[in-house]
Amino acid sequence: MSTDELKALSWPFPNPKYIFFTDFDGTITLQDSNDYMVRKFQKPGSMDEVDRQRQTDNLGFGGEKRRQGNKDVLDNKESFRDSFRKMMDSIKTPFPECVEYLVQNIQLDPHFNEYFQWSLKNNIPTVVLSGGMYPVIRAILDNLVGKDADKIEIVCNEAIAREGKKIDEEGGWQIKYHDESGFGHDKSLTIRPYANLPAGKRPTLFYAGDGVSDLSAASETDLLFAKKGRDLVEYCVKKDVPFTLFEDWSSIHQKVQEIVEGQTTVKDAAHEGWEMYKNGQAGLNGKAK
Ligand SMILES: [Mg+2]
Repeated sequence: MSTDELKALSWPFPNPKYIFFTDFDGTITLQDSNDYMVRKFQKPGSMDEVDRQRQTDNLGFGGEKRRQGNKDVLDNKESFRDSFRKMMDSIKTPFPECVEYLVQNIQLDPHFNEYFQWSLKNNIPTVVLSGGMYPVIRAILDNLVGKDADKIEIVCNEAIAREGKKIDEEGGWQIKYHDESGFGHDKSLTIRPYANLPAGKRPTLFYAGDGVSDLSAASETDLLFAKKGRDLVEYCVKKDVPFTLFEDWSSIHQKVQEIVEGQTTVKDAAHEGWEMYKNGQAGLNGKAK
């Protein structure tokens, strides 16, 4: 891949010294929008068959199956690609309704905008790498970040119409994966060309994530922020991938600012998470290993 294709080297800032890659769902946002869609609605009372169908199936197959799916991926029993497609296929709601529902309900990490405005002033590009779908992510960011949301690059999956159907009809859409990998979107494919740049041209690379869709990216960057108490921490501990913990974007902001200002190094920060895990501060009660 030529450096011309590495968008974050030239946009929105030329020759950045740092690039921040980040997961979207549960990392920039408080809720996972995909989980949110598949969560079973529990509205008691009578309803006709169509409504019942919509509320039990239509927003997906429910929390228990979703959690089992995530566990199977962590335990290598099923690929993320297959598990996630099953989750998305369980949603029959027309796609525009899904987007609208998520825009109305998904909340941003309360400190993300503060970090993001600081990053713009300090020429640090933000690249969202997501297993989610582009129209969902774009609509949520436009709504919650505002006018500067268009300075965030998004690399993710798409939503397309099923054969013979329209995307805005019942059961009319499906996920279209970014690549052929078992992840559907292998986030490392986007990061690695930056990581392989020669010294002098290569920016320092950060990544923030929380879950199973981040496994492919976890070992690619110089400093990995893993969300306290989430699956990604468990994975990092199992695989001995260095990481630092974050609870929200105020901790990320503080750490990145310390690095940019030379108060700490990426190397020192990268081993903090392991130390915190050992001291029982990773939110896992030591159950990961
Ligand atoms: Mg996530």
